[in-house]
Amino acid sequence: MSKRDYYEILGVPKNAPQDEIKKAYRKLAIKYHPDKNPDNKAAEDKFKEAAEAYEVLSSTEKRQKYDQFGHAGVGGGDHANYSNLGDIFENFGDIFGDLFGNQGRGKKQRASGPVPQKGHDLSQRAEISLKESYEGCKKEIKVFHYVPCTTCNASGCAAGTKPQGCKPCGGTGSLHYRQGFFAYSQPCTTCHGQGFTIASPCTQCRGQSRVQKHDRFSINIPAGIYDNAELRLQSKGDAGVFGGPSGDLFLIMSITPDKNFTRRDADLVATLTLTYPQLVLGCQIEMELIDGSTESIKIPKGCPVGKEIIIPGKGFPDLRGLKRGNLVIITQCDIPTKINEEVKQALLDYDAELQKHHKDSGGFKSFFKRFLG
Ligand SMILES: [Zn+2]
Ligand SMILES: [Zn+2]
Repeated sequence: MSKRDYYEILGVPKNAPQDEIKKAYRKLAIKYHPDKNPDNKAAEDKFKEAAEAYEVLSSTEKRQKYDQFGHAGVGGGDHANYSNLGDIFENFGDIFGDLFGNQGRGKKQRASGPVPQKGHDLSQRAEISLKESYEGCKKEIKVFHYVPCTTCNASGCAAGTKPQGCKPCGGTGSLHYRQGFFAYSQPCTTCHGQGFTIASPCTQCRGQSRVQKHDRFSINIPAGIYDNAELRLQSKGDAGVFGGPSGDLFLIMSITPDKNFTRRDADLVATLTLTYPQLVLGCQIEMELIDGSTESIKIPKGCPVGKEIIIPGKGFPDLRGLKRGNLVIITQCDIPTKINEEVKQALLDYDAELQKHHKDSGGFKSFFKRFLG
């Protein structure tokens, strides 16, 4: 197949000035750019053809030879045969920069290599008991996160090599197009938006500059920490790429319930089950607290069920350790389900005794009768 005339390819007259040739080439390069025509062999051929024509006509010397001798004048191997697209970008990186990167170049610095980026923050739950939250504790935390690759010192490159700035996008990572009134951009397909390429990646991290790793470390959880509280562990998240700072690790507290105690705001709450006589007569009870210490609790005479007895300063500390909540004891009555004859008789005697003092209280009397039979 005979070669088409270069002027014809670019659609310019034989006496077209340089800027017109450049303009014509730009137009074709946009139209047939492989990013815009994926898997389109015809477009790719046109793209290559235009590049070849431009290469000759943009050079004063080559253009002269071409004008004089036609294709034979420039076919002697002194200009590239654009069989592969990479060569086109290699040779016309600048015009592509003008073409597609003009916005990018104006605003962004042309990157000479990888730009360090901060790693992601991570978040995970950490389970502790109510007792641990009351006293504070030391916990071992396991995390699966990115750490900087030590083999390549977070460069992503094999020893003795360096990353290369990406030519098609001028190192900006995106290609900018302009068509009529429309300007748009898309990530550079050569460097996948990174703005650089790594010819010999580090084998340990495969050019990623960081690797995933199971890590464990121990932390102090302050006394008074509450359920769903977030603890921020600085720089324990994912390592940044190419030496960027690490993200943080957020630990979200899950406090497992205790069988005897609960938390209400800053108060430590427990129910205390007493017998009816204990409630009526009052008593002193030794009670084991959540931290294993004993507290002597005074139950007043005639204590109702559900009464809250407050012991100040024995609750949860605030996280700065400045003040504490209270211990709150809620009374409850132990009602036996099985009783022997003696107890039954004692209760009937007690009831009879009680009736004497409640002669006027008809409702109370009939209520008791119904149940005692
Ligand atoms: Zn590496
Ligand atoms: Zn690129």
